[in-house]
Amino acid sequence: MITHSYSIMLLLLIIIIILLTIISIKFKQYNEMKKIAYTDPVTGGLNYNKFRVDAELILKSNKKEQFALVCTDIDNFSYINYTFGYKFGDKILAKISNIINKNLGTDELCARRSDDTFVLLLKFKDKNSVKKRLSLLHNKCNEIKSIKDNNYTLFMKKGIYIIHKKEYDISLIVGKAEHSKRTIKTSLTNTLSFYDDKIHKELLHEKALENSIASSLKKNEFVVYLQPKISLTTKEIIGAEALVRWQHPLEGLISPDKFIPLFESNGYIVDLDFYVYKKVCTLLKKWIDNNKPLIPISVNVSRLHVANNNFANSFKKIVDEYKIPSNLLELELTENIFLKNVSDVLNMINALKKMGFILSIDDFGCGYSSLNLLKELPVDIVKLDKGFFKPDGLDKKDKYVVSGIINIAKDLNLQVLSEGVETQEQAEFLQSSQCDMAQGFLFAKPMPIEDFETLLKETNNTI
Ligand code: C2E
Ligand code: CA
Ligand code: CA
Repeated sequence: MITHSYSIMLLLLIIIIILLTIISIKFKQYNEMKKIAYTDPVTGGLNYNKFRVDAELILKSNKKEQFALVCTDIDNFSYINYTFGYKFGDKILAKISNIINKNLGTDELCARRSDDTFVLLLKFKDKNSVKKRLSLLHNKCNEIKSIKDNNYTLFMKKGIYIIHKKEYDISLIVGKAEHSKRTIKTSLTNTLSFYDDKIHKELLHEKALENSIASSLKKNEFVVYLQPKISLTTKEIIGAEALVRWQHPLEGLISPDKFIPLFESNGYIVDLDFYVYKKVCTLLKKWIDNNKPLIPISVNVSRLHVANNNFANSFKKIVDEYKIPSNLLELELTENIFLKNVSDVLNMINALKKMGFILSIDDFGCGYSSLNLLKELPVDIVKLDKGFFKPDGLDKKDKYVVSGIINIAKDLNLQVLSEGVETQEQAEFLQSSQCDMAQGFLFAKPMPIEDFETLLKETNNTI
């Protein structure tokens, strides 16, 4: 009898032990899965989903305290990936996350949102103390040994939104911080922006514009302007750049600076660029059919096209449809395009080059220019950024840099065009520095196609 109940107890014990083991394994697995689901694989810190959940909880349970949301990204990070490799880049991101996390107080959070973008939830006392904390973090990130050893500086833009009471929608809050970050033009001089009334109005205006994009594209509300390019030796008009404008029914003529960033953020730029390419091909076809003198026209290529492996083929298809010789079309790729997905960009450029199109690097010198880039890319023309040519004239340093770039470009058999030339003095300096071409208000502003054709006729192609 005793042995019987003893064996039942033993059996029960074994069952309990087995059950406990299963529960503990499952619990461990659950914790592991939870950790994976909540952790950013690159930094080992919180991921953005967990950030959103935790941030909402913190805001709801700290009703008396005020918080600010900071959205920050590293302007030149892709350049680090490009120069030192992605593994190195990931290590730096992990170190940055570590630095930020170490400097957080209770109920403060940080997560990597995407690529090189971080979001921070900070307690807010006043603007100055946030500024100080962020500038300290910025400096600490630049103290990272491998960054210092490589003589590199990280440029971080920070958009800040001060969260109102009872505001809990984290996606909306992040959107506002992100928007104020986007208002910072260059992180070299200004690295921080607080969301304010002006930015709020801009955001509302942008939303209204955004709602009318699709119908505007259908209604052909976009017009192509042309700006002449001048040979500095002969003063002839040797080409033109196509620049788009939005003829908005309510707002009048809107300049591209006001809507291109929006179109890039919602992807409409892809359709708009192809719209411009077709308009330019239509014009060249008209010139060909009417036996007019032919000059190449350049078009801008948004960075969004890089993600499309088929861009070169799609571009060529249009050009072929209109039967335009490929050497009448130039594609301008901004310098910064090269910093993201370098191998994709190289594939695209090589394909376009093989098809016989003229290629140029736009805005050269405005960002994190690499002279190495000039050596590695099969491009034909370097367009010097208009930032070099300020209205009050070129200072000594600018002159030194500009003539230096021209010399290197010449050694590499590249042609050089300077943009934004506004004064005679600048034109003379460029001519004496062997710059081949110029574009700028000194010669002509961008103008409607008909005006450009009249200009060509009246000036006999010479300005
Ligand atoms: P960008 O490609 O660098 O074009 C040159 C800009 O400099 C043009 O501004 C032009 O009007 C302006 N500019 C020309 N000469 C001078 C000058 O002497 N002084 C000054 N201060 N500015 C001068 P715009 O037309 O407002 O275009 C702005 C930007 O919008 C362009 O810069 C380009 O990045 C973008 N964009 C324009 N059209 C298109 C397009 O069809 N597709 C894409 N993806 N981007 C476009
Ligand atoms: Ca351009
Ligand atoms: Ca440019």
